Amino acid sequence: MSLEDFDTVVGLETHVQLLTKTKIFCACPNSYGAEPNTAVCPTCLGLPGALPVANRQAFNLGIRAGLVMGCKIASFTKFDRKNYFYPDLPKGYQISQFDFPICGEGRVELKMSGGGSVGIERAHLEEDAGKNTHGDGDSGTLVDLNRCSIPLLEIVTKPEINSGQMAYDYLVELKRLLRYAEISDCDMEKGSLRVDVNVSLKPKGRQEFGTKIELKNLNSFKMVRRAIEFEQLRQLAIYESGGTIDKEETRLWDDLAGETRLMRRKEDSADYRYFPDPDLPPFHISEEWIDEVRRNLPELPAPKRDRFISALGLPEYDANLLVQDRDVAAWFEEVAKLCGDAKQASNWVGGEVFTLLNESHCSINDIKITPQRLADLIALTQDGTLNLKSAQKLFKAIAETGEEPKAKAKALGLIQVSDEGELEAMVKAAIEANPKAVEDIKNGKGKASGAIVGFVMRESKGRANPGVVNKILNKLLNG
Ligand code: ADP
Ligand code: ZN
Ligand code: MG
Repeated sequence: MSLEDFDTVVGLETHVQLLTKTKIFCACPNSYGAEPNTAVCPTCLGLPGALPVANRQAFNLGIRAGLVMGCKIASFTKFDRKNYFYPDLPKGYQISQFDFPICGEGRVELKMSGGGSVGIERAHLEEDAGKNTHGDGDSGTLVDLNRCSIPLLEIVTKPEINSGQMAYDYLVELKRLLRYAEISDCDMEKGSLRVDVNVSLKPKGRQEFGTKIELKNLNSFKMVRRAIEFEQLRQLAIYESGGTIDKEETRLWDDLAGETRLMRRKEDSADYRYFPDPDLPPFHISEEWIDEVRRNLPELPAPKRDRFISALGLPEYDANLLVQDRDVAAWFEEVAKLCGDAKQASNWVGGEVFTLLNESHCSINDIKITPQRLADLIALTQDGTLNLKSAQKLFKAIAETGEEPKAKAKALGLIQVSDEGELEAMVKAAIEANPKAVEDIKNGKGKASGAIVGFVMRESKGRANPGVVNKILNKLLNG
């Protein structure tokens, strides 16, 4: 037996925190990083008698997510209580949506990666739980309830993903859509995007799915890919040895060990004793409401790419590269607007800026070069103050210090020399120092002029304007 004999079946359940101002059922701020247990009130603490009030903006963002994933938006939707005990859940139940989720079936296209698509089963609104921090040794476990009732959207795919790579591609695309539409910042490090992975193997040709196991504790998309690939082999080994997977398990991914470990047997939905939350009315979502949300949708990646091509005149390759990340696209557009040359802006962002981001592991809004500074730098190349080499040097310098391009170019002595009198003296000196090259040029070897120009560039420490040097050289030798 080998993996060739099986289809891998994967479904993902992704929780994203929504970018609302306040929590989903109370007026506490939806913020991150406040002092523990300060962003709370009687409602999100579940004190007796406190009543939830649904947040309209959470609905707007849920509808928005449905629109960008091509989902049917429910006209009737309601909230249910999912009952369980855990110290981060003071009410003893989570308000979620059981049988009438806000979004029904949809589909996410993987156009910008490998192609193909992933079906969406449903997406529903719910509240987050608090956060337990397990200390080591004697320090015990600490509970922070600030996260209680932060709005979440849980997005459930159909079991249509067939590899770790496809799961990875789907997550990249999902994150891109949700960030573009300003639904969630999808920052895994802050826990605003969390993924559970369901995996099973099915002998090729058989109809019914195999028993799935659920993976938790996946802190990056790369971990998701690795965990699926590990789990494929682990399940294959079980089948090879004649065993079966007869109980659904929840397993934890251990990234250091590169393996999954049993966490617990999975609960059935019956164990949660779902019932309609009597404190919240059902909601009707009208066509007008959906239209209003549609009208307010921010520009998505594909239309933005098309606009970069048609309105800014960028090559398709550049446009594709620039729209991969929403913040990068916005940053680029700002530079293009300020310097008035979209292609130049694209060359710099796709070249020096991407290199800088890769090397510094920074996100684009954290680097010391602002769109204004890059536009100023580009302007210095446009008016002949800097040649390309010097401009690249200057870029590196201000990337470290965040200084103003013009002042820094002066300080570093990078200002290009275009003055013909000054350059003519240098070219004459170069001609004298390179008789062989001069001889070659006279014999029709045009390439030999490179040696003379190179000499002048070196002597001027890269500051000479190569165009002007060439012109003078021609004049002196042929004129
Ligand atoms: P549960 O009741 O265990 O929560 P669901 O039917 O709600 O299961 O599905 C949860 C997720 O698991 C979905 O993303 C679904 O696509 C996926 N899934 C369902 N069956 C399988 C299977 N046999 N193998 C892999 N994934 C599956
Ligand atoms: Zn509250
Ligand atoms: Mg489920």
